[in-house]
Amino acid sequence: METFVDAAKKDANGSVQNKSVTVVFVLGGPGSGKGTQCANIVEHFGYTHLSAGDLLRAEIKSGSENGTLIDNMIKEGKIVPSEVTIKLLQRAIQENGNDKFLIDGFPRNEENRAAFESVTGIEPEFVLFFDCSEEEMERRLLNRNQGRVDDNIETIRKRFKVFLDSSLPVIEYYNAKGKVRKIDAAKPIEGVFESVRSVFTVSGDKVAA
Ligand code: UDP
Ligand code: MG
Repeated sequence: METFVDAAKKDANGSVQNKSVTVVFVLGGPGSGKGTQCANIVEHFGYTHLSAGDLLRAEIKSGSENGTLIDNMIKEGKIVPSEVTIKLLQRAIQENGNDKFLIDGFPRNEENRAAFESVTGIEPEFVLFFDCSEEEMERRLLNRNQGRVDDNIETIRKRFKVFLDSSLPVIEYYNAKGKVRKIDAAKPIEGVFESVRSVFTVSGDKVAA
């Protein structure tokens, strides 16, 4: 039987997709500043920003058949099945003319990571990890007022637990491969971007402006 992974490896014509791309995973707890810093990286280094959470929220709004499932999982701070998220990421990569992508907020667990790698054949260039205390992240989430259904204290606590239990192991996996670039994300936005900038400058993305 063809598995989800087998099926996803093929495009509509049945051939394996092979667009060659550079991917940087941007990880960190909820409220660590991933989205904010990705906007800066896009501006200075020519990447395209793909936020897995934003793609899932757009999928809910589009009235997709998975919308209710995704909505319920986000409200509970749970991780949406890999199949759903990977399809959205894959489509976004294929539809975009760029070949450099920041994937923000994914992979969130080991299963996400292994499935993405196996379906797309893509390994990240490196992993940008925003390290921030829970106290600071909680303060930011409660102050940001973006109207998100999961920015309430009850769901925030659940998201912290999921991050520690499921997402940190992904960071440890890449750390063992020497791929993690850890950033002190507790500083103000400009200070954090100085550290981010030096990571991308060293990595050779000198499209700096
Ligand atoms: N989410 C998911 N898989 C992903 C990315 C996001 O299931 O790959 C869900 C999950 O429920 C998460 C929510 O979307 O709590 C919000 O994710 P986002 O990255 O937008 O927010 P963050 O928690 O990083 O602030
Ligand atoms: Mg985000």
